[in-house]
Amino acid sequence: MRIVRRKTRQIQVGWVKVGGDAPVVVQSMTSTKTRNVNETLDQINRLFKAGCELIRVAVPHEEDVEALSEIVKNSPMPVIADIHFAPSYAFKSMEKGVHGIRINPGNIGKEEIVREIVEEAKRRGIAIRIGVNSGSLEKDLLDKYGYPCAEALFESAMRWSEKLESWGFYNFKVSIKGSDVLENVQANRLYAQHTDIPLHIGITEAGMGQAGVVKSSVGIGILLYMGIGDTVRVSLTDDPEIEVKVAYDILRSLGLKRQGVEIVSCPTCGRIEVDLPKVVKQVEEKLKDVKTPLKVAIMGCVVNAIGEAREADLGLACGKGFAWLFKGGKPIRRVREEEMAQALLEEVLKYNEA
Ligand code: SF4
Repeated sequence: MRIVRRKTRQIQVGWVKVGGDAPVVVQSMTSTKTRNVNETLDQINRLFKAGCELIRVAVPHEEDVEALSEIVKNSPMPVIADIHFAPSYAFKSMEKGVHGIRINPGNIGKEEIVREIVEEAKRRGIAIRIGVNSGSLEKDLLDKYGYPCAEALFESAMRWSEKLESWGFYNFKVSIKGSDVLENVQANRLYAQHTDIPLHIGITEAGMGQAGVVKSSVGIGILLYMGIGDTVRVSLTDDPEIEVKVAYDILRSLGLKRQGVEIVSCPTCGRIEVDLPKVVKQVEEKLKDVKTPLKVAIMGCVVNAIGEAREADLGLACGKGFAWLFKGGKPIRRVREEEMAQALLEEVLKYNEA
């Protein structure tokens, strides 16, 4: 089964295409102070290496705006300036060469100012992300609905989309973030039914650790399953590299992106005669920088190993302190427990050479 993605118009953020026939784009946001240029660029480079394709940086102060030229010049991916409350920083960030800006019209203030920002982005060929959040809804919508709800978020997103189009600006995407998963899904679904504008999806402030990963995976997963979502940001109270990893895991599990190694491993049971969690951790560590799309099955015993190994590019079917290494569904050699991760790495490298 394949997911049929919603047909959206394509926009351009720097050299990265979002929407249309482009694969879902993974993005993240730096957690450094933008004004600390070296630290910010270090993090950007690490995120790029992890597979991040667009990067957003916070611009809360003048010093952060000043740092943008250097960051844009040295970033391996297009840079988006995150603007809140201070429209002057939107103009200054565009002057510094950013490839995109994110604004929440609800906290920018007057419509004329939003229009001036849009006109400037149009003149410079810069993309905009319009953010609609339950925390920054317009007052008239809060009065109409009484509280932030999916319908109010949808109405706000439609309102701003129509305004931008009426001003002759089309190089924009929209994000709609509700305070909970179901509100988020419903607001995005309503919007997707009414426009072909690309959607940036994510669950805002999902939290930390396992709870954040689960919440993000459920919300983003439901939307992607419905074909909704042109770019994804997983928001976690954690290292942004983990956000990128989780985004790829979600996309890979839905067959929407194949980059890097997908590891399938069994949950273990009383039949196990190797330290499987340790083997899986070693394999993950060894293969973490591999970009070639490969599926690797690591199974604790022969019960499901043959079937899984047949489905995977490479597999390990473990016995007592050893495993059969499978390639293309066939056993190719026997390896000791301590050699398993290295043996898999050697086979993966052969795929890279092929
Ligand atoms: S593959 Fe073997 S060890 Fe792993 S859960 Fe299944 S039966 Fe248990």
